[in-house]
Amino acid sequence: MLKMFCPDMYLDNIYDIDIEYIKKKNIKGLLIDLDNTLLPWNCCIIDQDLRDWVKKCKKYGLSLCIVSNNRARRINECAKELQIPAVTRAIKPRKKAFLKGLSILGIEKNQVAVIGDQIFTDIFGAKRMGIFAILVKPVCNREFVWTRLMRKFEGIILKLMIRKGLISMIK
Ligand SMILES: [Mg+2]
Repeated sequence: MLKMFCPDMYLDNIYDIDIEYIKKKNIKGLLIDLDNTLLPWNCCIIDQDLRDWVKKCKKYGLSLCIVSNNRARRINECAKELQIPAVTRAIKPRKKAFLKGLSILGIEKNQVAVIGDQIFTDIFGAKRMGIFAILVKPVCNREFVWTRLMRKFEGIILKLMIRKGLISMIK
């Protein structure tokens, strides 16, 4: 049961992702959460580091697609700025949005990684589909009230997974 919530990688942030390593795992695309994964929650200011990271992923041949539970307008603005497609109002952990992301990228689920900052939406959503899942620490601690509440449960599960040795890569 715990395995359904267990990320394949747990990192400080997206910049710690070893792109060469995931390329070796035959991963061709990334389905990425936006809020508190790429950008602070409800923020649309894209800095140079993020632009460079997106460019680097593309250079390595990775296709990117944002998959966000947030409302369409803001997500689409950010996606346009970064020149990557987006699936909005995703209702993660439901499978539908991930499937839509896969069809946009034109790849199979075993060729993609999901990246996100929340265990119960991003990671659980990925694992229930058998997708490689990368958990990152939230970019900032400002977030939706409900998310803040869920963090308490996430914290408990994370500690348990670490104690059981289920999470292998921790920074
Ligand atoms: Mg998020």
